[in-house]
Amino acid sequence: MQDERHPMQEFVDGIAASVAIVRLSDSGELTVTACNDSFLDMAGVRRGGTEARNFPIALDALVPSYARHELREKLQECFLSGVAHELEQAYDLKDGTRWWRLSLKPFRPAGKDSTLLEILITGLDITPKMTLTRELEASTSRFRSVVDAAYDAIITIDQAQNITLFNHAAEHLFGYGAAEMLGQPITILLPEAHRSSHAARINQFARSPVHSRQMDERNRVYGQHRDGTLLPVEIAISKINVEGFLEFTAVIRDISDRVRLMDLLQKEAETDQLTGLPNRREFTEVAENVLRTDERLSILMLDVDHFKKVNDTYGHDAGDEVLRVLAKVGSSVSRDMDVFARWGGEEFAVAMPGTDIEQARARAEMLRATFESRAFTHSLPGGKAIPFTVSIGVATRAPGESSLDAIMKRADQALYRAKKGGRNRVATEQDVSAFSARTARSAAREYGFAP
Ligand code: GH3
Ligand code: MG
Ligand code: MG
Repeated sequence: MQDERHPMQEFVDGIAASVAIVRLSDSGELTVTACNDSFLDMAGVRRGGTEARNFPIALDALVPSYARHELREKLQECFLSGVAHELEQAYDLKDGTRWWRLSLKPFRPAGKDSTLLEILITGLDITPKMTLTRELEASTSRFRSVVDAAYDAIITIDQAQNITLFNHAAEHLFGYGAAEMLGQPITILLPEAHRSSHAARINQFARSPVHSRQMDERNRVYGQHRDGTLLPVEIAISKINVEGFLEFTAVIRDISDRVRLMDLLQKEAETDQLTGLPNRREFTEVAENVLRTDERLSILMLDVDHFKKVNDTYGHDAGDEVLRVLAKVGSSVSRDMDVFARWGGEEFAVAMPGTDIEQARARAEMLRATFESRAFTHSLPGGKAIPFTVSIGVATRAPGESSLDAIMKRADQALYRAKKGGRNRVATEQDVSAFSARTARSAAREYGFAP
């Protein structure tokens, strides 16, 4: 048997890789003329077994059936073309699966028939690398499924601020498909007003020592849907360094429902239930905002005359209806920039930005005359009109004055004088005595407000 050994046997036994030499017999069979122990180990053949080392051995006797077909095909291609080939194969052994990268290299053995072609198979055990790759694939697909199942939109951009990841929730939120968004600039998803400054803001975040934070905590943040609508969102941003390049990831939560609720609560907090007018709080806020500028501001304090009598005569519900009618008519004759508010009870306050005392007096007179004229009808059971009149006190901001309380107090004092003067009249803080209805009427005519 010893002299049957291939001359390269000793050489190949010394190599750490699995090595075999394969020949194509005249009858077209693939036979192994030599192989090392490592090749036998690879194929799971027992060393010293009957099939081993009895060269030449049919390839099929060495290679397990599941790997045989692929290997034979490659070998045959190799014999036909004379060109080297490579393939990766998994071999299931008792102690687990091992991966091998086999390279098939045709050669002509020296000293033999020069037309004879043999193939040198060398195999490298790539199991550790494959295990790593498969673990990475598994963790990548785990990562992908978490990202795609996420309730929040997740978007990643690269250093050039182009989109590299766009999950399902992002597709849903913004109305774009992931495929069309990959490679696109992130600015597509921003309101127009923020697009030009966005790159600089990201660069600033890139330089900051902070790795993740909430975007713009003080202001409401918006994204822009494909159809152009603005989406109120909450955004957490983070950056990671991937092989020297920064990647930014945004986790975006749609807060439209919360914003709608907050807007509703806000609206409710600043609206008077009975009349639907702005309430005292809202009035105060608007007036104080004006006082922070150097704009003019006049205030009217309006009180229904003998309102107790209205309640006593017609009932409390009728009284409510009078307040509603007063509110509707009062705000309908006010300018857009005016705030016609319910101050409380049967008292109303009007803030009139940009209005001086004489213009305010004229508007007050117009209001007073409107209610006096009873030109509107009450929608009360029985449809009976309830006559009522109002008295109004007028005050104006002194140049540079910033205290709303002080102005309100002067308006209140003027109102008191109007009441004292006989009701159904307008008084300003400048009037020493009650301003007579007649004088007010002429002022109204002068400013074109006369009814
Ligand atoms: P005057 O202002 O002309 O001096 O007389 P008045 O009768 O209007 O006087 P007063 O301000 O003292 O009374 C206001 C009345 O308004 C007392 C209260 O019962 C009534 N009132 C306050 N709020 C409401 C309301 O929401 N609905 C109804 N129906 N009445 C209200
Ligand atoms: Mg009152
Ligand atoms: Mg009153």
